[in-house]
Amino acid sequence: MHSHSVAVPVGAVDTGGAAMPTSRVSRVSPLWDQHCCLPLVCDADVGQLARYADASVEPVGAFVSVNVGYAPHSAADVRRLVAAFTGAVAADDRLCLAADVAAVATARARGQVAVAFDLEDSGLLGGDLDNLRAFYDLGVRTLVPTYNSRNAAGCGCTDARDDGLTDYGRALVREMNDVGMVVDGSHCSARTGLDLCECSRRPVIYSHSCMRGLWEHERNITDEQARACAATGGVVGITGVGVFLGPNDASLPALLRHVEYAVELLGPEHVGLASDYPFDVTDFNAELAANPHLFPDSYTRWGPIEFAPPERLLAVGDALFERGYPADAVAAICGGNFERVARQCWAS
Ligand SMILES: [Zn+2]
Repeated sequence: MHSHSVAVPVGAVDTGGAAMPTSRVSRVSPLWDQHCCLPLVCDADVGQLARYADASVEPVGAFVSVNVGYAPHSAADVRRLVAAFTGAVAADDRLCLAADVAAVATARARGQVAVAFDLEDSGLLGGDLDNLRAFYDLGVRTLVPTYNSRNAAGCGCTDARDDGLTDYGRALVREMNDVGMVVDGSHCSARTGLDLCECSRRPVIYSHSCMRGLWEHERNITDEQARACAATGGVVGITGVGVFLGPNDASLPALLRHVEYAVELLGPEHVGLASDYPFDVTDFNAELAANPHLFPDSYTRWGPIEFAPPERLLAVGDALFERGYPADAVAAICGGNFERVARQCWAS
């Protein structure tokens, strides 16, 4: 999308001339954050997720996918975390666990934040693909087959040798397609990501990955990966991590630079947002220190990592609007595109 034609302010708020915080497009483009990170402990403050409901004019609901485990975790760890998070979401009337896309819409209409879960790495399946359905039933809607380093499914983005997806990885993708779980190439190697797109029968996403054409980092994806994802009907979620966006720059302009690059490359219908926000940055840095083999120098060389909080993601819509993006493109980027993928992938 390179159009800078004059946009029609659909959903513009009539303030009656009074000075009010502007949130012109948030009402027509509720945010869908395809990946965020609560501390992976059972007593995490799940109420932090209510920050996604844009209250600048009136509460506008949202969707957020919450990570419930990655490579170091076992299936039992994930079950404990899911049980804890599910209980906390149910007990908070600002939040709602959404099993399907209709439930997301219902929650948003009430001004609530709809929640689903995601997993990073397939190792915690223990090689048993039946676990996919069990996790789906617990609310897991997205899974990254390989987190940074080689596993039974494929290669990770930090591996020196890239052999792509394995036979087991292909079986995993087929089962994910059947179960209704979204296939996510973030953290995978380039070849593995391309193989995912080649073998999935449903759209493949990069839930939280920035553009390598703008900033060299192993977690960022090449134009070729992004194009292959778009060709499946998928979406690339630009993420608010400073070391992925640039030299530890998590500012709104840095986010917009990657969004606009991706839109130029793929069109507005294949770009989305995913904060990757760790709600406890101290906990994140402790996690980083505890697992140095999972985080190379490209994460740590800038000092403490900067992150774009939910409030900054909520500002992306208005910023794009001000840059002349049409309201429908803004709505698609802020959430409509990932919602479309959910409709095409999740079991109804
Ligand atoms: Zn991640």
